[in-house]
Amino acid sequence: MAEKALTRLRNLLNLELQTQWRGRAFRGGVPAFCERWAADAEADGTNPGLLREIVERLSLYADADSVERERLLRSLLELVDEPPAADPALQNIDRIGAKPAAPAPAPKDIGPSVDAPKPPDALVKPVTDLKGIGAKKAEQYARLGIETVGDLLWHLPHRYDDFSRVRPIADVEEGEKLSVVASLRRFSERRFAFKKEILQAIFNDGSGAIRATWWNQSWLKNRLTVGKTYRLSGTVGMYMGNRTLENPLFEEISPSAIKGGPILPVYGLTAGLRNGDVSRHALQAIRTGLSSVRDAMPETLRRRYNLIPLADALRQLHAPASTERLEAARRRVNFDDFLHLQLGVQRRRQEIQHLNAAAMAVDEDLLAAYQAALPFALTGAQQRVLDEVRRDMARRVPMSRLVQGDVGSGKTVVAAAAMLIAAANGFQSALLAPTQILVEQHFHGLRKLLEGVALADGSSPSVTLLTGRVTGQERDAALAGLADGGIQIVVGTTALIQEGVSFANLGFVVVDEQHRFGVEQRAAVRDKGADTAVPHLLVMSATPIPRSLALTIYGDLDVSAIDEMPPGRTPIKTKRFTPADRERLYNFMRNQAREGRQGYIIYPLVEESDALDVGAAVDAHARLREEIFPDLRVGLLHGRLKGAEKDEVMRSFADGDLDILVSTSVVEVGVDVPNATLMLIEDAERFGLAQLHQFRGRVGRGAHESYCALISRVNGGAQAERLRAVTETTDGFRLAEKDLELRGPGAVLGTRQSGLPDMRMANLSNIETLNQAQEAAQGLLREDPDLRNHPQLMEKMELFWRGHGDIS
Ligand code: ADP
Ligand code: MG
Repeated sequence: MAEKALTRLRNLLNLELQTQWRGRAFRGGVPAFCERWAADAEADGTNPGLLREIVERLSLYADADSVERERLLRSLLELVDEPPAADPALQNIDRIGAKPAAPAPAPKDIGPSVDAPKPPDALVKPVTDLKGIGAKKAEQYARLGIETVGDLLWHLPHRYDDFSRVRPIADVEEGEKLSVVASLRRFSERRFAFKKEILQAIFNDGSGAIRATWWNQSWLKNRLTVGKTYRLSGTVGMYMGNRTLENPLFEEISPSAIKGGPILPVYGLTAGLRNGDVSRHALQAIRTGLSSVRDAMPETLRRRYNLIPLADALRQLHAPASTERLEAARRRVNFDDFLHLQLGVQRRRQEIQHLNAAAMAVDEDLLAAYQAALPFALTGAQQRVLDEVRRDMARRVPMSRLVQGDVGSGKTVVAAAAMLIAAANGFQSALLAPTQILVEQHFHGLRKLLEGVALADGSSPSVTLLTGRVTGQERDAALAGLADGGIQIVVGTTALIQEGVSFANLGFVVVDEQHRFGVEQRAAVRDKGADTAVPHLLVMSATPIPRSLALTIYGDLDVSAIDEMPPGRTPIKTKRFTPADRERLYNFMRNQAREGRQGYIIYPLVEESDALDVGAAVDAHARLREEIFPDLRVGLLHGRLKGAEKDEVMRSFADGDLDILVSTSVVEVGVDVPNATLMLIEDAERFGLAQLHQFRGRVGRGAHESYCALISRVNGGAQAERLRAVTETTDGFRLAEKDLELRGPGAVLGTRQSGLPDMRMANLSNIETLNQAQEAAQGLLREDPDLRNHPQLMEKMELFWRGHGDIS
């Protein structure tokens, strides 16, 4: 019913779009048309909200300029593309908070590619139901974790080759991806030995000429006619000093209809699976599965934030119609992820506010004694953060605070003061770190910090160590001391909270290197407290993230920053190099080693589980050890090693038994080897800024001058800019801001490391969307703290936090 008026409008809008928004599609003028149409649509029973929205935009249309008209037109088309009225379940949730009737009816019109409404279970059908996917392809998909049609639908491209821009040939530069529209001047065919054939053609568009070449596709010549006009899409390369399009896609077009080329999705692949396969199969998944996708987004939110329907977004992501629509689709998916993320952290924050902790009064004399015993004065930043921590601990609401600060900024000194406060109040503290070595370093450090300070009974707090290496009687004694309260402070691996260690009265937990420590673990810590009270929690991170981001992402934490370094540090010299400089750098490394120093060589790793990358590090290690540094002791560290093996390698490096440590990014976590002075990073552009900064933080920790060498091939673009940023500043916070600006919030958060759930298109996201999602989550929870009126949203949020399951 409602479709008649909408369909008519859709047709007219399309016509208007084709005729360049001159108002020609609307006979008698836009206002008159609008009035007539609204009456019809009302009679049709069109959703009143939608109707109002359309009329509003149409009435703006009459007076708008050309640019604005196009925008309005596209937004109108998006509105009528899929009548929201088709899903009554959504409106119910939104209006009266009723639980929707399950299963939700499928939207009726989601585009020409969808044959007919399908039951929701189309999404759980195996991929083998799709044409062209047999057992072999299914196995390849399984390797990517894709088993169902729904999985495939959510296997989103990680980037796009956008050929939609048409450029004059005169402006075309090497390396660009684009389309040109030009006429064919001549072409020729040549044969080489080894059955290689090359088809070369010269195109000219009036502004200039460009060569196109196709290898071993000489049959293409049948599609080329001199004098006709073609659109060519590809990447511009250089061949003998001339700009060349290699194997471009091309299509004959009418000279008067200049139109951009396609936007091609680029998918994550696995051996045997080609991009074209995935693209084709994804289109099929759209055809059979899209109508079963449920959109959990409340209609009001969707409108307020101008978000397109989910099904529409999925279709655009796999088969973009234009840059603008693709952008709208990305924004929708990012918004969803951010919203779910926000709902999760903000709900956790609410929960924490309802918990009880012990209020720990501050003994000023004790703190003064602690500071007096330090061989240095606290920096202003340390003092400020300590004050924030003290204030938190004095309250009954459990502290939940993140302290960010660069490596060496003095976080541990602040944490030790807080442990002292806990001890003076009769509570135990635990300091947790991710690896045995870090734990041991903290243990020795803490002992030194606290040994000179006396509690009320005259003794200093007792500190004990608890790792996998502490065994037998020693372990029994530690466990007994923690259980009966004889020991005040324990330093242990993060596993401590999962193991059956019991405390007499644990009141304070400090976690170092927070990026390995997710929201779930934070919740687990709270369970370790006494029955009536949960411990205060302090999380320390050496990976600064921008404040704007920290507040949003760690919504369950308050954030402090130690943004000032203790005086007298020598900055690390950071410089960029190309692979051609390697020899020189190796010599430098050898010289450092001869002087008794140590160094790191880091190889990038896309995924820790990726056997290929580990292989690269293993090979590099063998080569370095046998051919380049046969005279030096070269160790190897990578993510495939077991925890104990990793610890052992790290330990021999820390003990000075190795000169060079070859490693993948696993070395990132804050190990302290003051004798290490050279950090050499291969393919540096493949790391994020925060990560590079972390690597650099591994050196410059002792008395010796230290160096960081970034080896990279890139010499332009955003990647080069990132590397330059690292060479220009040693301020982790500034780098984090820069990273946010260059790569977007998802990339900065590096979800795998932050302990956050995966986000689907995080690397294509922006901070504005994040802020809007935060605002939306706050609004929703303010009115409805348990999301009772939004069961679908609640369900999606939980799925998100559990790791992506299905989307329906
Ligand atoms: P982080 O945990 O932030 O990496 P630490 O607390 O381990 O930093 O401190 C790093 C080093 O700096 C330690 O040797 C510590 O004694 C020293 N340090 C800490 N605060 C100061 C300060 N205010 N002045 C001088 N040295 C300091
Ligand atoms: Mg530290």
